[in-house]
Amino acid sequence: MSKEITSRAQDYSQWYNDLVIKGELADYSAVRGCMVIKPYGFALWENMRDVLDKMFKDTGHVNAYFPLFVPKSLFEAEEKNAEGFAKECAVVTHYRLKTDPDNKGKLIVDPEAKLEEELVVRPTSEAIIWNTYKTWIQSYRDLPILVNQWANVVRWEMRTRLFLRTAEFLWQEGHTAHATKEEALEESEKMLHVYADFVENYMALPVIKGVKTASERFAGAEDTYCIEALMQDGKALQAGTSHFLGQNFAKAFEVKFSDKENKLDYVWATSWGVSTRLIGALIMAHSDDEGLILPPKIAPLQVVIVPIYKGIEQKASIDKKVNDIITALKAKNIRVKYDDTENSRPGWKFAEYEKKGVPVRLAIGARDLENNVIEVARRDTKEKGSYSLDNITETIENLLTEIHQNMFKKAMTFRDEHITKVDTWDEFVKTLDEKTGFISAHWDGTAETEDKIKELTKATIRCIPLNNIQESGNCVLTGNPSTQRVLFARAY
Ligand code: AMP
Repeated sequence: MSKEITSRAQDYSQWYNDLVIKGELADYSAVRGCMVIKPYGFALWENMRDVLDKMFKDTGHVNAYFPLFVPKSLFEAEEKNAEGFAKECAVVTHYRLKTDPDNKGKLIVDPEAKLEEELVVRPTSEAIIWNTYKTWIQSYRDLPILVNQWANVVRWEMRTRLFLRTAEFLWQEGHTAHATKEEALEESEKMLHVYADFVENYMALPVIKGVKTASERFAGAEDTYCIEALMQDGKALQAGTSHFLGQNFAKAFEVKFSDKENKLDYVWATSWGVSTRLIGALIMAHSDDEGLILPPKIAPLQVVIVPIYKGIEQKASIDKKVNDIITALKAKNIRVKYDDTENSRPGWKFAEYEKKGVPVRLAIGARDLENNVIEVARRDTKEKGSYSLDNITETIENLLTEIHQNMFKKAMTFRDEHITKVDTWDEFVKTLDEKTGFISAHWDGTAETEDKIKELTKATIRCIPLNNIQESGNCVLTGNPSTQRVLFARAY
């Protein structure tokens, strides 16, 4: 069964695609760069969404929904944002099709149905939202606004990859408005910590929190905070971003408020988002050559039970016991499935659930029943053992926790082994080619050097880690003085 998955050593990129497709998370679609998220993949996204949504609400945010289309004049208002996204915008110019008079059965765009003003399909929603906030905000009493939206956005990406970079993707975007700069800064940092908490404690994936350099910043932001994760091929992946937008959007949309002294000032803003890219991150960080390995806390199925029997009598007694197990597991909110379908053999089922990354597999036969035991197999380490049925719920609860911890530890060890301190250009190039991962090196702080390094090696500055140690040194490329190390990597 596992033969159908390309191994990582053979072709990492094909391995990834095999896992997405054969693990039934998503499929290619008729639209270039857009994917179909299949029920198993969507269940995973729903679990992630539910946890994040609760975290947002626990930190005082509420959900709202804004239109998919942004009139071009609004889109243009914040110049840097518009310029940054212009090259990847889908634009609606007409609102009607009609039958082609020269070719019956075919449709053409009706030239008479041209829109007076083009509509941009949102690549991000700051423009439409800040145009709305203008009507919501008059005084300090209207602040803060802490709104989140769950939505789809479109960015006409040229090189797409399932989940990691698609032309249409699902995400959440928080858009907050504040009376002071300090409060907005605090909010953008707070949400970065929420993201890191989620990715580490639910996806079992360690991240580095940092701030982007000016060239890697979100278009229209004063500062972009990010979390960066490391994939098994040594490439980095931006897993989430939180932007401090200053007063840029308030100025572009004339959003002012009167403070307690009745003085008028522009409102301060943040925005923050994570997308379906996170699914790509967890696949690439955790899985193996046999298939997906899903983190237990968000796995659509946490436990699958497969019966092994001969004849209806054996099956009936196994069913009875399994029903009790399922009731007990469900009472603990454990997501469990009993696969007693008769059209495939247990061995086939084992391989199938292994491929789909179900954290725990139970198998039970007539002999096990007699001995009051059940076979427990964990997906992460592939260890198998026989456990007493008496306290099976507790065994599984503990095992799910242990699997999460083991996955996190493994990813953390890999990540830490792949951060290399480098002081010379030769070492920099050699490390990138031999070991990959993050390179911690001094940089002279200029965009020119950053560009040059990117041009020479394809490595970018992933971030300047938060709470970075200040130390004097010399830029790896130019030798110019530097006050701190930054993290470089080739990235997705
Ligand atoms: P941004 O608005 O550019 O800061 O991106 C917000 C979040 O969406 C980040 O976590 C990005 O990693 C993610 N993201 C950006 N572009 C794409 C894409 N084409 N497909 C999937 N996720 C994306």
